[in-house]
Amino acid sequence: MSDCLFCKIIAGVIPSKKLFEDEEMLAFWDINPAAPVHFLVIPKKHIRNLMEMDSCDVALVGRLFHKAQEIAKEQGCEQKGGRFVVNAKIDGGQTVDHLHVHFLGGRSLGWPPG
Ligand code: 5GP
Ligand code: ZN
Repeated sequence: MSDCLFCKIIAGVIPSKKLFEDEEMLAFWDINPAAPVHFLVIPKKHIRNLMEMDSCDVALVGRLFHKAQEIAKEQGCEQKGGRFVVNAKIDGGQTVDHLHVHFLGGRSLGWPPG
């Protein structure tokens, strides 16, 4: 077992509140939500971050975003929208080194980030 938190969530070793799962991805609620709607979509493949992704994963990353869009709509965010975010490495504030797309919605979000 990899020492990666999200790989452990994928394996079911650490529980999560799942929104969607198929053979290549998992979506679940963020444990510390920063907005009324805040979930994560992650690939089951351990990709560390967008700065290190390979060209072979381009289509997979596109499907992660498309799934985030679908779930955001299911959660009532289609009309007002929200934010699709991927933090990468130190300056991006990434705290879990397994690629994840955040979706935040349900309130107005400030810009730029601090
Ligand atoms: P990052 O800062 O790496 O972009 O985002 C990591 C996100 O993972 C954070 O929003 C944090 O709240 C969430 N997170 C960290 N540990 C867990 C956990 O054990 N379960 C869930 N569901 N989310 C987690
Ligand atoms: Zn991982």
